[in-house]
Amino acid sequence: ALLLGHAHPAVVTAVQHAAADGLAFGANTERELALARKIQEALPSVECLRFVNSGTEATMSAVRLARAYTGRTKIIKFAGGYHGHADALLARAGSGVAGLGLPDSAGVPPATVSDTLIAPYNETDVVTALFAEYGDHIAAVLVEPVAGNMGVVEPEPGFLITLRQLTADARALLIFDEVMTGFRLSWGGAQERIGIRPDLTCLGKIIGGGLPIGAYGGQREVMEYVSPLGPMYQAGTLAGNPVVMAAGTATLESVSPERDYRRLETRAAALAHGLEDAANRAGVALRVNRVGSMLTPYFVDAPVRDQASAARSNAEHFRTFFHAMLKRGILLPPSNTEAWFVSLAHTEADIHTTLDAATDALRACNC
Ligand code: PLP
Repeated sequence: ALLLGHAHPAVVTAVQHAAADGLAFGANTERELALARKIQEALPSVECLRFVNSGTEATMSAVRLARAYTGRTKIIKFAGGYHGHADALLARAGSGVAGLGLPDSAGVPPATVSDTLIAPYNETDVVTALFAEYGDHIAAVLVEPVAGNMGVVEPEPGFLITLRQLTADARALLIFDEVMTGFRLSWGGAQERIGIRPDLTCLGKIIGGGLPIGAYGGQREVMEYVSPLGPMYQAGTLAGNPVVMAAGTATLESVSPERDYRRLETRAAALAHGLEDAANRAGVALRVNRVGSMLTPYFVDAPVRDQASAARSNAEHFRTFFHAMLKRGILLPPSNTEAWFVSLAHTEADIHTTLDAATDALRACNC
């Protein structure tokens, strides 16, 4: 969630000023408009937006909106895609490769996920088949345009184009969950990088500068279904909170779109290549999936393109690697299918330190 690293002075100062003006008003403030305008400039598909308090609220609200707008109930999501912890989105694939969702957490009633259809990521044929069977009932496809929650998985050429085509043909909505990728993969998010315009976009993390936030937005015609203009109810006492808005605006104002994304790309590429080289030298099978400043090293010797292939990453090797890195002062995300994020606070020296530690730690995997 921190593109600028911890306690960036511009963000801390903005938070202090905003806090001194009042913590919560239960009404729109100019600070909310300032952040909304900044987001609109970066993401042309977002004609109107609503702030909420988390990424979970953003996806939950976007799905409700898609259902309200289309008058349909079913949604498609992808196995291994994480969209927060709303009941309907905590669904995993049933026994087959696709089909009706089963609850993925204790406490989720099966009926709540019965309208959630699951397909494997990158499997256009499966999504096409789901549309052939359920097309008239599908309100939306919800997708991480670059997956980050099964580890980093890049959409294959044609995958997102097919989703765009299928949703348009069926008059369903395409929702990009850019909670992770928004303002991370480029100034305009994954949608700019890949060149596909979704109907709705969910944001979070970076846009709050480290404080709790989410946002959903898109086509004006669709967003006007949200109350009070339209019949879809959604509200939040602390949504658009001025302190959070100030942190978000200060973050986005501190980023140079031309310079900083190039820098992130260079640093993350150096980290990814360095990890693969170190693994090669240590004789450990490792493949790094990287898109921009998001990367995941998988302990595998075959490409990772969906949740099933990500799950083949050697957990024993990861456990050894994780603890060996920790011993050397580097705290990694604590799972072998999580994304690592390079921030603008990471220096070239930090990358070298990490790679030096990884060179030793990977040797430990082969002991
Ligand atoms: N969507 C994606 C793609 C995420 O990665 C996350 C959180 O990691 C969420 C939604 C949920 O966001 P939050 O944790 O702010 O509720």
